[in-house]
Amino acid sequence: MKKVKNIIDTSIFEIFKIGPGPSSSHTIGPMLAAGGFLQSIKELPEDILKKSSGIKISLFGSLSSTGKGHGTDRSVAAGLLGWKPDTCDSALFSELLSSPKKTYNIDTGKKQLQFNASDITFEKGLHHDFPFQNTVIFRLMSGEKTLLEKEYYSIGGGFIKCKGEKEIPRPAPPYPYSNMTELRKIIAKEEMSLPELMVRNELSISGRNREDVLRGIQDILSAMEDAVKRGLDAKGLLPGPIGLARKAHVLYSRASRQEHIPDRFLVFLNAYALAASEENASGHKVVTAPTSGSAGVLPAVLYLLKHHFNVPDHKLYEGMFVAAAIGFIVKHNASISGAEVGCQGEIGVASAMGAALLSHINGYSIKVVENAAEIALEHHLGMTCDPIGGYVQIPCIERNAVGAVNAYNAYLLASAGDPHKQKIRLDEVVKAMLQTGRDMSLKYKETAKGGLAVCSKC
Ligand code: SF4
Repeated sequence: MKKVKNIIDTSIFEIFKIGPGPSSSHTIGPMLAAGGFLQSIKELPEDILKKSSGIKISLFGSLSSTGKGHGTDRSVAAGLLGWKPDTCDSALFSELLSSPKKTYNIDTGKKQLQFNASDITFEKGLHHDFPFQNTVIFRLMSGEKTLLEKEYYSIGGGFIKCKGEKEIPRPAPPYPYSNMTELRKIIAKEEMSLPELMVRNELSISGRNREDVLRGIQDILSAMEDAVKRGLDAKGLLPGPIGLARKAHVLYSRASRQEHIPDRFLVFLNAYALAASEENASGHKVVTAPTSGSAGVLPAVLYLLKHHFNVPDHKLYEGMFVAAAIGFIVKHNASISGAEVGCQGEIGVASAMGAALLSHINGYSIKVVENAAEIALEHHLGMTCDPIGGYVQIPCIERNAVGAVNAYNAYLLASAGDPHKQKIRLDEVVKAMLQTGRDMSLKYKETAKGGLAVCSKC
């Protein structure tokens, strides 16, 4: 097989991660970074640790400008307390740092360190020289002296990098690819389905066996379904100063009552996307797909397929691998971070993943799958990220519903045409998305300094 450069070796369990909302890059990523820093402290020699007096945290870029509304301060505190995104208690997480004076004990193994909200600094200014927008620096202090400093970047979807730390090489997947063109060629050559190729790569990348992988996918699907169900049941206002009312239950009960309205399944699809997104905005558990901000799109599509079209579990598993392939390709060749490329990288990618999943589950070829993803992403190009007040509520929640409907529409458009006549390839639109994101003013990249965030009165 031809040697492929920059092989995609991301695991499906990295793109689909369970964790508390509202923003994977501001919540899950910083929590994991803080957990990594805690581990580094624990590995320090005892004589150094003995001198330590506390921990200081500096948040930069979008982590600073929207970190309050996105819960970044609570996330770093949670990580230092040893909490993990997938297992932490959402209610306790929401309460963290609610009292500015409350002090927490950080257990470093050999010493307890005291920590409170004043140890976190939201650094001023949007511009900085770090290689990624979302940067956080942790320092272990001895009075005014720094004993240990680590710089982390939250690069979208809960993925993190640490300055100076080399990533541990992973086993090479048996079917290496770095973009859609290469993936399509392998599928044609090997005469293998896309999900089967993805499963075989996953076995090698994650080191799990097939049963374990499928069990993990089922857990992810259950977490997505739970988020939709909880969101459909919940009523009242979402947390935060905007006072936004939950709407998922309104749409759901309307569609449930009115059996003969022609747009009924669309109303359900909207309700499901709102439901998971409202749960995300509440800081409850969701699944990144590819991010928490866009965690309503794919669950909505999946819920519709399962509960309205009776699609069996094994087909949903296949769909998840197809959706993951699209997420991997965009993450690898562009970005899935609103702070790096705007909302096109979040809702746009989620919509592309949903469109690809719908095309595969409805029995279409890899060409149609690619075209559906391309169409969905193409029509989100240029979409900015301008959350009002820095809260993942407006425009985010409705945008998930629109993204889910767009996914369905992109699937319809792709499946109606001759797949060989499609003019634009997925790799081309991914490239365009990256370029558009680079050209986008910083104020439209999750800073709450432009667009709706400054033009709205709420
Ligand atoms: S506008 Fe889009 S990218 Fe920005 S926080 Fe909301 S969902 Fe995420």
